[in-house]
Amino acid sequence: MGLGTRQPTSMDPPRSTTGKSKYLEENDIMDEFALLLNGHAKKCSKCKLAVRTRYLEDGLCPDCRE
Ligand SMILES: [Zn+2]
Repeated sequence: MGLGTRQPTSMDPPRSTTGKSKYLEENDIMDEFALLLNGHAKKCSKCKLAVRTRYLEDGLCPDCRE
């Protein structure tokens, strides 16, 4: 079995922890780049992660406002 054929296991982190905000809500049609381009998402001014604009307040995502 080569390196590229590793099966995902229960130990793998969920997709939301790959350096992207859980408030971005990417989907198959709109990835991070498309969301930013269309103005549906903006970068949080503190953590610099792309976040849906409806979650932003004063440029901060919910995680950074806590
Ligand atoms: Zn943030």
